[in-house]
Amino acid sequence: MNLQDLIYISRRKLSEAGIENSRFVMVALSRGILSLNEADLILNGEKEIESELSAKYIEAVERVVGGEPIDYVLGFRDFFGIRLEVTRNVLIPRNETEELVEIIIDEEKNSRVFADIGTGSGAIACALARNIPSSLVFATDISKDALMLAEKNARANGIFNIRFIKGDNISGLSDFLDSVEVIVSNPPYIRTADIDSLDMNVRKYEPMVALDGGRDGLDFYREFLEYLPTGKKVYLEMSQYETAALGKLVSDLNGYSHEFRKDLSGNYRFMILRPEI
Ligand code: SAM
Ligand code: GLN
Repeated sequence: MNLQDLIYISRRKLSEAGIENSRFVMVALSRGILSLNEADLILNGEKEIESELSAKYIEAVERVVGGEPIDYVLGFRDFFGIRLEVTRNVLIPRNETEELVEIIIDEEKNSRVFADIGTGSGAIACALARNIPSSLVFATDISKDALMLAEKNARANGIFNIRFIKGDNISGLSDFLDSVEVIVSNPPYIRTADIDSLDMNVRKYEPMVALDGGRDGLDFYREFLEYLPTGKKVYLEMSQYETAALGKLVSDLNGYSHEFRKDLSGNYRFMILRPEI
């Protein structure tokens, strides 16, 4: 089959299924599966595509039509310039989390020991470890499958200044906690009752352990703050709906001041805790 026919069939499948961003999907799949860019799609319609590749392409289109997120279909996501394998065992890293990494690199380039709690694909840990090369990053997760993938991602990208630990919340850092200067986490923060109203492709495909923050969405934060020792710098991703509730939780915390920061969409997305001086 030539490229033009493959594109024609795929576009028809996507538009019949009512997929809105069909152009974006086809460009991404073409780049990921056929190693062709957008210009090739326009200029090289006559190009013959091997039957194995065209079958793979059509299967990928059908998975997208079925509602599967394109990053799982492709099997990777680029985060902060790092290519990460993603499977259904890990959350697909979000753009807001890249903003969190940017804030931390900007403010903590002189810090040495970091922890990324709930590392998932390893996104935050890999980005920090690569961009602050003199650092050591402890990356933890409660999910063994996530941790294995995070470790694989670090290795595949030649990043070796991360130590992976299976563990629960802040206590998972055990004896290493003392040496950690900066703690980062993008924990699950969706209220259980709101899970049903998430986009179908999130709800159906992404791991619940990465999303469900309990009845009020704050289970992780409550436990985290209960065991947080004094003197750390803390960067947490959060739900835009929880500034009041989180503000109340941290008002009981001794030795820290807090700041909420907005993401580029204008939503309060990050909470930063700094030791009071
Ligand atoms: N850090 C990744 C990112 O930003 O893309 C993944 C974030 S995902 C929202 C939350 C991650 O926390 C999941 O990988 C989940 O397995 C992990 N997790 C959930 N509860 C945890 C807990 N109590 N202790 C450690 N990790 C936890
Ligand atoms: N931002 C994610 C979403 O939109 C939620 C991630 C989280 O709970 N940390 O589904």
